[in-house]
Amino acid sequence: MTTYYAIVDGDPISSGGNVHVLERDEWIEGPDGRERAVAYLGDQAYCEACKTWGVLVPHAGIARYLRTDHHKRGAQAVSGDGVICKCEPMPVVMAVYGRSESMDDIGDSARLLKAQTPSRDIYDERFTLTDREGNPLRNVRYRVRTGSNVLASGVTDSGGRTQRIVTNGSQALRLEVEH
Ligand SMILES: [Zn+2]
Repeated sequence: MTTYYAIVDGDPISSGGNVHVLERDEWIEGPDGRERAVAYLGDQAYCEACKTWGVLVPHAGIARYLRTDHHKRGAQAVSGDGVICKCEPMPVVMAVYGRSESMDDIGDSARLLKAQTPSRDIYDERFTLTDREGNPLRNVRYRVRTGSNVLASGVTDSGGRTQRIVTNGSQALRLEVEH
């Protein structure tokens, strides 16, 4: 997992110099109690090494969706993003003042795993017992099992329903009825 931090006005860049946020819409309070404007990709930084104004570009390995989008400014800049000035290699921005806002990137493999596993891992089922004509079977003793485990037992209600059975993951449930 990698943690990225918000970049704000005044944060340094690796070649010397600072980020200058000219359009100020969002603010983050720094460790010194001062509020500084949040930097977005496309904002500027002055590079002391080549004495030019550079532009903040995406360079940090952060997943795109972890960057906050501003309705008119676009994607937020984070620690490790680049500055296009005249320097080679490209300097990067360093988060000093906006570190109270961070984003944890859990990485591609973890994200892939998350996408493949249904987010709702809890299964919630209830059975309704009816006779052949579809009439509910009330007050029937039942047992719900998975393998040799009894998950629930009881008596069906006035609608012929069992209680809700909550399982962790998809399991083959077997309903047994006492005659
Ligand atoms: Zn430079």
